[in-house]
Amino acid sequence: MTRRRWIADAWTATTASLTGDQAAHLARVLRAEPGQIYDVVANGFLHRAEITHVTAGANDQDNEVLFTLHEELSSDAALPLHLLLAVFKFDHMEWAIEKATELGIAKITPVLARRTEKHLAQSALKRAERWRRIALEASKQSRRTDIPNIADPIPLKQALAEESSPTRILLSETEQSTTLTDALEDSQSTTKDRVPHPSQSHREARDEDPSSIQTTHALAIGPEGGWTPEEMSLFTTHQWQPVTLGPRILRAETAAIAAIAIASTHIT
Ligand code: SAH
Repeated sequence: MTRRRWIADAWTATTASLTGDQAAHLARVLRAEPGQIYDVVANGFLHRAEITHVTAGANDQDNEVLFTLHEELSSDAALPLHLLLAVFKFDHMEWAIEKATELGIAKITPVLARRTEKHLAQSALKRAERWRRIALEASKQSRRTDIPNIADPIPLKQALAEESSPTRILLSETEQSTTLTDALEDSQSTTKDRVPHPSQSHREARDEDPSSIQTTHALAIGPEGGWTPEEMSLFTTHQWQPVTLGPRILRAETAAIAAIAIASTHIT
């Protein structure tokens, strides 16, 4: 059976601690005691860990569980995949973030597109913390050892200027011929070994800013109204390849999940 896995809120080289909701659950619901062994992710690495101290307080925020970290366990790396997700209806967007996390996405950048509704664009920045919490919960639930990086929302122009993945794929409901699979197969021969897979670069990257995570592939999904013609040509300028997921128009969140699932079979 898989041992219960926790993601540390703070750590040193040999210790880790949980606070807040995770600690409250462990201390009060699971009745944690010193000596118990759990799997704990600290600084992106999975360890066998032994509880050394439990503080159970009356309020959730008063709980704390301390661990000594034992041996490092082998872990599964994220897919080297960056999702540029246009901001759309928040409940659907949250669903997309949760599912993308379960499927192994390394990074999500919420993008303010021309057809992102104004009120959503205005409150997107405030939402980012909530999106990060959703990604954390989904990481725990899916037994990921890392949490995807959820960037602050930025305008499309900036997102395209900053993108460094060698393979850049635009999911487009107007593309007729090139499929996502075609584009991925093409990229396999040209980009292989150019960028280190996150699992290989992970150790050196330990102390680096998580937003600098290297990905080999970027996928862009448009808002409910789709991309505008100006945005489509901006993508072309930045050498993004438009692809289709088939003749049916998918909701943005469906397109995101389908695209990640297809990509994952080509880039693991
Ligand atoms: N407003 C458009 C649909 C936009 S769907 C219309 O009704 O015509 C939102 C996003 O999902 C699109 O911008 C695209 O990125 C993606 N998408 C939806 N269906 C797709 C398909 N068949 N192929 C590729 N991408 C698709």
